[in-house]
Amino acid sequence: MATSKGGNTTTHINTLHHRLYHALNLGFRRVCDEKEKKWECTDIEIQRHVVKSISAFLDCFSKGTSNHRLIKDSVSDIAKALVFILGYKNRAVVGLAANVVISIQQLEVSLPCAVALNGVLLNVRETKEKDVWRVLEDGKVVVSVVGNLQNFSEGSVSVEWFQEMALLLSTVMLKWPQSRYIVWNNSSLMVMLESISQKPDMGLRVATLKLYSSLALCGHGASELLDNGKPMLDMMISCMDESSPHNARIEGLKLAQRLATGNRECLKMINICSEPLVKATVRTMGKWFLSSGKLEQDQMSLLVETCKLALITRWEGKHHIYFWKYRISEALLSLVVENFRSLSLDGYASLEEEISVAEKVLNANFLPSLRSYVWDIIGFLAAHCEEEFDSILRGDELRLNFLVTCACLTFSRSVQKGYQICQNDIISASQSESASRAVLMMIYSPSEFISSRARVTLSFILGEDGEQNLNSLVNFLSYIPSSGSFVLPNVLQTTVCLVGLACYSSIPQYASFILRKQGLEILLSFCSWYQRNRNNIGASSFTPYPQSIAEKRICCWACMEDWDNKDAFLLYSLLALAELVNHSLNEQNHAEEFSLKREKVKDRLCNTLQEIRDATYGSGPRWYAAHILSYFGYYGFQHKLGKRLMGAYEDEKCSDMRLLFSNGNSVSVNKIILAVRCPTLLPPEEGTHNGSIISTEKSQRTVQEIRMSANVDTLALVKLLEFSYSGYVEVESTTLKKLKTLARHCKSKVLLQMLCRRRPKWGSSIPRIDLPLALTPKLIHFSDIILVPQETNMASFNCRLCSSTSPHAHSHRVILSSGCEYLRALFRSGMQESHLDRLNVPVSWLGLTKLVNWFYCDELPNPPSGCKWNNMDTEAKLHELQAYVEIYSLTEWWIMEDLQNDCARVILSCLESARELSIKTIELAASFSMWKLVEAAADHAAPIYHQLRDSGELDELDDELVNLIRTAAVQFSQQGG
Ligand SMILES: [Zn+2]
Ligand SMILES: [Zn+2]
Repeated sequence: MATSKGGNTTTHINTLHHRLYHALNLGFRRVCDEKEKKWECTDIEIQRHVVKSISAFLDCFSKGTSNHRLIKDSVSDIAKALVFILGYKNRAVVGLAANVVISIQQLEVSLPCAVALNGVLLNVRETKEKDVWRVLEDGKVVVSVVGNLQNFSEGSVSVEWFQEMALLLSTVMLKWPQSRYIVWNNSSLMVMLESISQKPDMGLRVATLKLYSSLALCGHGASELLDNGKPMLDMMISCMDESSPHNARIEGLKLAQRLATGNRECLKMINICSEPLVKATVRTMGKWFLSSGKLEQDQMSLLVETCKLALITRWEGKHHIYFWKYRISEALLSLVVENFRSLSLDGYASLEEEISVAEKVLNANFLPSLRSYVWDIIGFLAAHCEEEFDSILRGDELRLNFLVTCACLTFSRSVQKGYQICQNDIISASQSESASRAVLMMIYSPSEFISSRARVTLSFILGEDGEQNLNSLVNFLSYIPSSGSFVLPNVLQTTVCLVGLACYSSIPQYASFILRKQGLEILLSFCSWYQRNRNNIGASSFTPYPQSIAEKRICCWACMEDWDNKDAFLLYSLLALAELVNHSLNEQNHAEEFSLKREKVKDRLCNTLQEIRDATYGSGPRWYAAHILSYFGYYGFQHKLGKRLMGAYEDEKCSDMRLLFSNGNSVSVNKIILAVRCPTLLPPEEGTHNGSIISTEKSQRTVQEIRMSANVDTLALVKLLEFSYSGYVEVESTTLKKLKTLARHCKSKVLLQMLCRRRPKWGSSIPRIDLPLALTPKLIHFSDIILVPQETNMASFNCRLCSSTSPHAHSHRVILSSGCEYLRALFRSGMQESHLDRLNVPVSWLGLTKLVNWFYCDELPNPPSGCKWNNMDTEAKLHELQAYVEIYSLTEWWIMEDLQNDCARVILSCLESARELSIKTIELAASFSMWKLVEAAADHAAPIYHQLRDSGELDELDDELVNLIRTAAVQFSQQGG
């Protein structure tokens, strides 16, 4: 082909041109009243013939000759034919035509065709998507478009061309997640996009924004974009500015929303640009009314996107303070009150007057579709604000107060409506729901300013009807478990009811009333009912965060948000329970009521709460269960790692330090655990480590003795140690005060919070024992053993803790012993091996890193997921898999059953997603004589047995193994597989 392209023989070109027109003429129709010819032909064979002729003709020109006379003359005819064929959407021909379109160098042809192709792809029906992807994949369309974009340099082709190509690619990425990896993994394209996005041309900027936001649908892609994401984010924020054209603003807002899909990525973005991002968001939200009195269509779409972006308030972070700084209350109020400027807030003499104004405002029903965003945003802000945030408000208090009043009013209307709440009226239903949630978050806000305001307003509105309303809430809730049903009668009404109880329980007079009406027992029954029927109960919210179709197509996002989204009903009932328990235990008056059935109810309550705390519910319910349990003397969370460390604490022979008390008693501890969990208990010289290179000299194991001051209460200290090791402790009320003092002194934050019975912070995760801290340079001098993998030759091995260049990992005997009986026995056996400071572990380096992770986190790391895994080649996948097989084999020897089960789970799930690995895994497992694993892998190979046999892959295996797979295949087909 090179000769025809470069050779450019005129006769050859003429022949191809002649053939082209021969083909094209089969489809030209002259439209009678117009001069223009039209190309249309529905015959598939002719279409195919035409596409091939076009391709052959264009192929014979190189880039340099693309302004050849013959091309110029035929360009518009070619484009007409291609556009028609693309629009006709016959599968076989569209694929062919798409390839031609992508490879065309001639601008005049490629532009209209790219537009047509984009149109075709956008309108592909969901049922056809698989087929179309096969066509795109066969033609390597994504690779070609990426190649085209990569070659873009300004001047050579027009900005328009770049825009169309970018649009095409972002459409493909939007619809087909498989295509995203090829794009974000192409670092030179990413570098190119970054430099283009810095150019002032708005067309180029919008095009790159579109590409970025399609990429950000992939979690791995978003994370990649955010590493060194400053130039991109700066450009994005500058596009949000009001001086930018409308479409640029919309695209900027959309990109920011997508990057904020997950908590971790959102924080990454916020760490780079929190203030400018929030400033742009709040400005857009609050400035629309300045431009003109009326809201135009354009402005409405802008406001919707801005509100969606402002939902980043659902996560904790430093952006919250900027929302207040740029006066979010004012901006939100402008979306609630028509003619917001004319509303004067300082004149109200009483709450009553303010409520009547708020009533008028709500009845006007201004911008109803934005209302639920407003409640969500202000709710999240209230939940996450700092205790001392009042000073930041500076003059915004009146507006905030008015918003609180409006939210409370909307909420109490929903409560009063009761059975009349209509789930089918989506707008008013989602308003009811989000206002309820917002009021709940206001009442439970760390800011006394917001929470007391919400409580006062709520009890004022409830007024004389209060008890009657509460009565119907309690009755409704008691009906659910007693009805024998497995599903909720009415999702919205249940939400409003539970939120109502949670809010009113925080107001003393209503708490007494609810307690008298058996509210505590009823809530408890509801919790038990929920536990039994959890799987039948869907999401608590039918419009959680309004998502467009695009957001449903996300991939590779590990959404960590589980505080209130999951098990929200349970969370609300626990919030109410917490208030009731607090009320009945604190107030003398009600102690009697509660004590009537104290033992019976208390046992039931504690059992239920312990179950919730230790199960796999969202963090919110688990935190609140633990919070209520702290009223009964149980503090903290029990987890496997904690139990393991507790074993080490009770085993004196593991220890390297002894605390001596003045009464003659003593307790043995481990320095490394104290260094991680309670460093103030260590003698000062042990706490920190200054030298960067640690000594690998064999050190004699000695037990250091520390004399404690006579002021230290022995029992309290033992309890503190117990909590430090296990993350959990049970304390009698007599020791409480002394333990509190000690915890404060030792800066044990989590314990102190629980001892003081402070409510858990909204969104905070379950506290962990942060053992990996022991492997950081600061604490590495406590390491007393080095693990050496089988692999000794690794180019470029660098240890960040010492200068040795052969692969190794630093570790601690006590932590290894706590997770492995075999090692515990080995270390104290007195055998020669037990004194060595190096331990050979028969696994690869990759396996060793995973093993160490298991010892320090009680969690086996997963292999790369999603797009990353799918795009790894077989060899790389096998390398990953091999690490797990090695650990599996090690666990037989080291007798670690839990870890073995974890390994088996990972290996089988890998085989699930890549059956082609089964044969190699069988071989590998057989070489380690792990027959259980061999059988499991054979089951995975069974469905593709015939395929494997025909391809000859089975020939490499021993007959015995082949027989095993055949047997599995026979069983598979007998079971109707
Ligand atoms: Zn992905
Ligand atoms: Zn090292």
